[in-house]
Amino acid sequence: MQTFAAHWHPIVEITQLGRHGIEDRETRKITFGTHTGTHIDAPLHFIPHGKSVDKIPIEKLIGKATVVNLSFAKNRQEITPSDLEVAIGNRSMERLLVRFDWHKQWGNRDYYVEHPYLSEDACQWIVDHGCILLALDTPQPDNPQSPVFGSCCAPNHKILLGNEVVLVEYLTNTDKIKQDEIFLMVSPLNIMNADGAPARVVALEKE
Ligand SMILES: [Zn+2]
Repeated sequence: MQTFAAHWHPIVEITQLGRHGIEDRETRKITFGTHTGTHIDAPLHFIPHGKSVDKIPIEKLIGKATVVNLSFAKNRQEITPSDLEVAIGNRSMERLLVRFDWHKQWGNRDYYVEHPYLSEDACQWIVDHGCILLALDTPQPDNPQSPVFGSCCAPNHKILLGNEVVLVEYLTNTDKIKQDEIFLMVSPLNIMNADGAPARVVALEKE
């Protein structure tokens, strides 16, 4: 499992402990970070004293979502509010699933450094239009060139999490979604006081 290369994101390890024929059962020890694979970011990730995963109401994580197809975006393209306006039209902005189809880059070295992203204005624009959840198939919402440390790092994370927009990152298989409106189920592990948590994310489409 690849993870963002920083000491605050551990390498995933799965170790078998119990064994059939010896302990007569299988069990495993798993080591992973709160931002491993498909996961949510709680406000606490970038906002001191922000809400943790266990404080996010489940109603926020489950419900109708609007699919925003931005799969036309080129590497490192910045998406503006007017791009979003065209892609969303007059549909609901409560929950947005943005499709860049970037999961296809999973495992490539480009995955973390070349992905398209929303401009700061675009993030503020979705906040102003009542977005409560933003799901992405990129590893994160910021310009991959933005600094990793300091007061100007990760401005989009700060705009979104600072306004209690839950982020879902590292989505996969977004290109398989056929409908514009889906029922989205985001089910993070309910880890007390956690800044993020791996999540199983399902998009249900109408028959
Ligand atoms: Zn994250």
